[in-house]
Amino acid sequence: MSDPLQLTAALNERKSNHLYRQRRTLESAQGAEVIVDGKAYLNFCSNDYLGLANHPDVIAAFTSVANDFGVGSGASHLVCGHSRWHHQLEEELADFVGRDRAVLFSTGYMANLGVVNALVGKQDAVFEDKLNHASLLDAGLLSGARFQRFLHNDLANLEARLKKSTDNKKLIVVDSVFSMDGDLAPLDNLAALAKQYNAALMADDAHGFGVLGETGAGSADYFNLDQQQLPVLMGTLGKGLGSFGAFVAGSEELAETLIQFARPYIYTTAIPPAVAAASLASLNIVRNDVDRRQHLQSLIAYFKQQAEQLGLTLMPSITAIQPLMIGDSEQAMAISEALLERGFLISAIRPPTVPANSARLRITLSAAHSKTQVDRLLTALAEVVL
Ligand SMILES: *Cc1c(COP(=O)(O)O)cnc(C)c1O
Repeated sequence: MSDPLQLTAALNERKSNHLYRQRRTLESAQGAEVIVDGKAYLNFCSNDYLGLANHPDVIAAFTSVANDFGVGSGASHLVCGHSRWHHQLEEELADFVGRDRAVLFSTGYMANLGVVNALVGKQDAVFEDKLNHASLLDAGLLSGARFQRFLHNDLANLEARLKKSTDNKKLIVVDSVFSMDGDLAPLDNLAALAKQYNAALMADDAHGFGVLGETGAGSADYFNLDQQQLPVLMGTLGKGLGSFGAFVAGSEELAETLIQFARPYIYTTAIPPAVAAASLASLNIVRNDVDRRQHLQSLIAYFKQQAEQLGLTLMPSITAIQPLMIGDSEQAMAISEALLERGFLISAIRPPTVPANSARLRITLSAAHSKTQVDRLLTALAEVVL
């Protein structure tokens, strides 16, 4: 058979390296328990950290606004797709994270591409942590700015690079919670370094927003960083908020710059107004239901403490992402399969999502879980991993 794009060879290579990926089809809503192929599983791999993806208030907001505003937004924000639901969500997001403005994007991936490319180009430099999310790395590469990756959370390595840079504008970009490791970027120290070298700091708070900080406003709240110290704050609405979409928050000038120059903002259809309304309902829960966040925090502490007692080696994370390092991809897959047989849905994360030889089980906890369910997970892990 003719194969001018050499697809078969590339697919076969993936398979032989134990890196082939397959999708699982869910037959239920997100939650602590999900149905796959007619069987119930305890779900420890979702990013629905607060259990809001299937919350009745969020569903009610969605259906009610779908009844009023229909489904499609009809156009991009700049043409005629920007509804009052989008606008209200932007205002409430900005208020929550303590910034002048927020601009909604259709996805976090697009927000990252849009922001980095609106802010830097040729003549400029972008400095990214080695473990940054793929969307940030793609954004940096696409920008045409001098692209540098510094060692993970290594301030000295970053400083050496900043010191050498003679580029015009300098942008430092990090995940505030690293998506496959669960650890935090030292945003306070990064902000100080940025200031010292006249660089701007951007944080992708996909896994912190809604979860971290006294109020749940995320990493900026956790580190108590204002708009001067952390001028570009990106967050997503599809994880902790259990909805869909993303935003970038900062100064008036930043928001207007994005509206004028961010191509993934300009050239795409706005998310459905009902989705914006659902996010508003989620935001309202995040702001008022402190118990939900506290329950998650207590499950994280309990899981870490019990895992340590069992002799399981977790990675250093205080967040809902609690990965168990395995190393070998084939072994990680085998463990994930064994857990599946016992009724646990936990994905093995393999290269190229993570560096070579660092395949891991990415366990995520959620406020939707009960302590009993976490106990069941610990028992299964002890059987399968140790
Ligand atoms: C999930 C994720 C994104 C992408 O957000 P989407 O809204 O899912 O496109 C960006 N950055 C990080 C760190 C993420 O984990």
